[in-house]
Amino acid sequence: MNAEIIAVGSELLTHQRIDTNSLFLTEELNKLGIELVAKCVVGDDRERLADAIRRAMGRSEVVILSGGLGPTEDDVTRDAAALALDRRLIFQTEVVDQMERRFRAMGRTMAEINRRQAFVIEGADMLPNDRGTAPGQWIEDAGRYLMLLPGPPGELKPMFTRQCVPRLSRVAPREVIRTLVLRVAGMPESEVDQLIAPIYTKFTNPVTTILAAANDIQVHLRARCATEAEAMQLLADAGGPIELLLGDRIYSRNGDPLEVVVGSLLKQHKTTLAVAESCTGGLLSELITAVPGSSEYFLGGLVTYSEALKIDLLGVSPEMLETHGAVSDEVAEAMAAGVRRRTGAGYALAVTGYAGPSTGAEKKPVGTVSLAVADAAGTRTVNRQILGDRERVRRFACHIAMDLLRRRMLGL
Ligand code: ATP
Ligand code: MG
Repeated sequence: MNAEIIAVGSELLTHQRIDTNSLFLTEELNKLGIELVAKCVVGDDRERLADAIRRAMGRSEVVILSGGLGPTEDDVTRDAAALALDRRLIFQTEVVDQMERRFRAMGRTMAEINRRQAFVIEGADMLPNDRGTAPGQWIEDAGRYLMLLPGPPGELKPMFTRQCVPRLSRVAPREVIRTLVLRVAGMPESEVDQLIAPIYTKFTNPVTTILAAANDIQVHLRARCATEAEAMQLLADAGGPIELLLGDRIYSRNGDPLEVVVGSLLKQHKTTLAVAESCTGGLLSELITAVPGSSEYFLGGLVTYSEALKIDLLGVSPEMLETHGAVSDEVAEAMAAGVRRRTGAGYALAVTGYAGPSTGAEKKPVGTVSLAVADAAGTRTVNRQILGDRERVRRFACHIAMDLLRRRMLGL
């Protein structure tokens, strides 16, 4: 069974507001085995909205509208749905009575315009709204289902969970959707695709998508089946060979980000981490400490942006800085060793680089980054040339640093 969502509201077409209701609805639909195949945002315009409803209902069995059920002139969802379905709007006095009672209970009198909210599409089921005035509506039309839900998330969520989920689970064919998420480090998107395309192109179920962010590639496999067992089997059939090809470049199979993965490793090994950061300016510490419980393994970090602090706090020698420059493997190594010595941490990471847009005196290109990991056995350094703007270079550098630690701890 396929679904579409239409988020209604001109404010959602501005740069100040974003539609988040559809994210909640998608998660709930997927739990029912219903796949979202399209969604859109339409401004407060009756004809345009009616057109969008007609098109969505022509393609998908479930269509959910969020917003535009309020009492004001710009709330056109009821009118647009009636127009699209070619049904009448019927004034329901019980709804007015309910609304009046609600207003009275709050010590207020209902404004005349609220009466507009009592118009219900012919044949619709009313969905009570405990959190607001506008009732929702559930409409069946030639084997298709249309839902009108209020825009405020605090009203939409309980209404959908309590009123729509039970109705949908009665009509949805029993189908499960299961996803396998593989997160990959140290490989560009194009290389991942080249490597695994010969496998995933053989399957139409599961569907494979590759999502790329700064150095973090995610391979998503989605299987749609009648039973859980079948879905897991399909994921294993397609996912198994993909996992073999990607090997130890996969750092997580459950969606966990790298900072969570290295955090768990540090906990498992009952050891600690300290960092020395230059070009990332504390971002690495920020990522690591965003994980709840990181105090168990993270001792802290030193942001040594200037050469003077690299010398004073980390014990990097002035001669080394002079000979190799602040962005060099030698300095990264000395920074990692220095912060480990100073803090007594089990592991230490260091990052130094040119985030751009300008570089230092040595004329190394923007995006040059040197990183080091230190532990009791010694240090290991890597350097990379990262493409992109300042933001991307900094994020990428943090990711490479955490992967360096992961590989060191796993002995890879
Ligand atoms: P109201 O009675 O409050 O007017 P309504 O059903 O007409 O309810 P809207 O006017 O469309 O709903 O939206 C009310 C508020 O709900 C918006 O200002 C916005 O903050 C929030 N909202 C609306 N649509 C969405 C959405 N798709 N995602 C997240 N929030 C939304
Ligand atoms: Mg409104």
